[in-house]
Amino acid sequence: MSADCIFCKIANGEIPAKTIYEDADFRVILDIAPGTPGHALILPKSHGEDLFSLDDAVLQKVFPLAKRVAKAIMKATGAKGCNIVQNNGEVAGQTVHHFHVHIIPRFGTEGNIV
Ligand code: 5GP
Ligand code: ZN
Repeated sequence: MSADCIFCKIANGEIPAKTIYEDADFRVILDIAPGTPGHALILPKSHGEDLFSLDDAVLQKVFPLAKRVAKAIMKATGAKGCNIVQNNGEVAGQTVHHFHVHIIPRFGTEGNIV
């Protein structure tokens, strides 16, 4: 855990968020400023700033989890598809420097959002 990292605090339950899934390694929350209804974030409980510093043992669990979460969100929201997005570095749009994966349900009515 990194002392001043907001996603460390959310992932480990110190700051509340709308949790839709949790296990030993991850918390999945709803984004505070959703691009579309059901926009979720996969947060590892361990701190890694980005793709390049996250532990590989955690990283290899990310896509299988993203697949399960995306499927469940699409079923719950009626979305027809989804974007799975992961930003690295400020120039790439990363604003929170704790690795996370966006799951953005798509309904076919919203135009280009990513
Ligand atoms: P990034 O731009 O770093 O890829 O994405 C950061 C995301 O985290 C943004 O979509 C932003 O809305 C979301 N976010 C930032 N702070 C909070 C927070 O305190 N709670 C929640 N639920 N989402 C947050
Ligand atoms: Zn962190």
